[in-house]
Amino acid sequence: MATIAFIGLGNMGGPMAANLIKAGHKVVAFDLVEASRAQAKADGADIADSAVAAVKGADAVVTMLPAGKHVLAVWTEVVPAMSKGALIIDSSTIDVESARAAHALAAKHGIAAVDAPVSGGTGGAKGATLTFMCGGEEGAFAMAKPILEKMGKKIVHCGGAGAGQAAKICNNMILGISMIAVSEAFALGEKLGLSHQALFDVASTSSGQCWSLTSYCPVPGPVPASPANNDYKPGFATALMLKDLTLSQDAAKAAGAATPLGQHAQEIYKAFEAAGHGGVDFSGIIQHVRTLAGI
Ligand code: NAD
Repeated sequence: MATIAFIGLGNMGGPMAANLIKAGHKVVAFDLVEASRAQAKADGADIADSAVAAVKGADAVVTMLPAGKHVLAVWTEVVPAMSKGALIIDSSTIDVESARAAHALAAKHGIAAVDAPVSGGTGGAKGATLTFMCGGEEGAFAMAKPILEKMGKKIVHCGGAGAGQAAKICNNMILGISMIAVSEAFALGEKLGLSHQALFDVASTSSGQCWSLTSYCPVPGPVPASPANNDYKPGFATALMLKDLTLSQDAAKAAGAATPLGQHAQEIYKAFEAAGHGGVDFSGIIQHVRTLAGI
């Protein structure tokens, strides 16, 4: 089994590192926050004094950090300290440009690199059922796959450097737009005197069906496990959805690709967050949509 350095032990990284330990790997962990380090220690990790100390002698390094600037700062420190032939994986959700810059940094030092953002949230991190969307060279992906398999159930190689991040932000742009579309349909249905259950029964078996409707329905009732039945507790918070919609808009601008619905979805989530709802599940956007509909 391998020695794996894990840097960034937050809501996602903590349980992901714990799953690597459960699978028999030796994990050397580091986070800036003492409470996260203590939890990782309780889960069976060795705790390092710094990110650089964590990666010394490791076969592979995993980073799970908030944003591109954190990833670039940590990779700039740790990549030169890594063993030749080792692998570095970033599973944070970050902008495509920073992901490509991180790959270039690793290549300069002869280190194999993979961008591998995830879908599946904290439940997937705990249950080792995440989907990993990977970008990088074939050889680096082949090295990463057996490690990622201990933390997830679906590992997809999407292409070269940054392709994992590109897939992640395109997927989440669909999700943000479709949640607003489903919310608008329920608000209009309500105005027209249609029950939520009747609209659900029709749309979930008709051409309007999508994940936002059938797995994560934004009205209470039709899908018992959806956050709508639990006062819109996240789940996947509005602030994280806004982060991902902003990443897709930044990428769209950089690529010169107009994405008008993606842009509008970003504006709608921005208004919802500005009204103080950043911590509410993203399906809570239906409250904002209902207000717009005059309900
Ligand atoms: P989090 O804020 O809980 O964890 C981030 C951790 O990184 C924190 O513990 C922080 O102390 C640590 N950190 C920051 N800078 C550091 C540094 N220089 N050295 C060491 N540690 C450092 O965030 P999270 O919810 O675990 O999310 C991590 C990433 O995964 C984000 O990019 C997020 O967008 C993405 N993501 C989150 C979810 C989710 O549901 N939470 C789902 C999919 C993807």
